Amino acid sequence: MKKGVYKQLNLTHLEAALPHVLNAARHEQWTYEMLLERALAAELDGREQKAIARRLKAARIPGKKTLDGFDFSFQPTLSERRLRELADLSFVRTCTNVVFLGPPGTGKTHLSLALADRALAAGHSVLFTTLAELAQALESASHPGLMRQRLRRYIAPSLLVIDEVGYTKLSQEQAHHFFELVTARYEHGSIILTSNTSFAQWGALLGDEVLATALLDRLLHHAEVIPINGRSYRMKERQTERTSLSASPEVALSATGGKSTGVR
Ligand code: ADP
Ligand code: MG
Repeated sequence: MKKGVYKQLNLTHLEAALPHVLNAARHEQWTYEMLLERALAAELDGREQKAIARRLKAARIPGKKTLDGFDFSFQPTLSERRLRELADLSFVRTCTNVVFLGPPGTGKTHLSLALADRALAAGHSVLFTTLAELAQALESASHPGLMRQRLRRYIAPSLLVIDEVGYTKLSQEQAHHFFELVTARYEHGSIILTSNTSFAQWGALLGDEVLATALLDRLLHHAEVIPINGRSYRMKERQTERTSLSASPEVALSATGGKSTGVR
């Protein structure tokens, strides 16, 4: 075969897989049809893997979490069935939002990441961000063109995760950008949002009651709000750590200071 022909035809995955495919064809005495089929399948498979890797990178997911890795017995107010239903991703197809509301450590980010993971695996485009990151990215756009371009980055994905709403108060400009984004995604794409702050306090968070009402109106029109009123899993882990430390006398003696963990 002429060198470069695979590249010209954009069949680079087939080129890479060919020695293996031909070898298997000889050993297993494939028919010509089988050979052609398997060779094309190798190209398609390679393309799919590349697309998955590209989508995963673009999603800026901070870590993999799954629903199977979530201990529902620790959060009895949370319905496992409801989460399993969300994991079928019809909320992404119907542009419905999902809002996890609860105190720190109750698994809001974990569950958002688990749903984002499912969405990625199903071929949806995803982007993960925190509200602080988002507000900063939009605020630092030095001219309207750049601002529109940045805004598009957050509008384009099928699923946008906005984590940690409530930890930072927004400036007037940031609040308007946040409103603009939620409005642009309204009935066009899903948002998963996590917050430790009840909706009644969003006026203070955005520094504008009217804007907060208008934003919540759009955010919650088609939305599943999932309150988690439970204990912090981080505290549980710290307590377990402490119990196992004090169970061992020599470690207990040396363990004078508390281990510092984040408050979020
Ligand atoms: P939040 O976002 O509500 O502050 P996270 O989702 O970040 O809480 O949870 C804190 C840590 O505890 C994470 O490592 C998360 O995976 C873990 N975690 C929280 N809740 C559970 C749970 N019910 N089962 C298993 N791990 C949990
Ligand atoms: Mg979190």
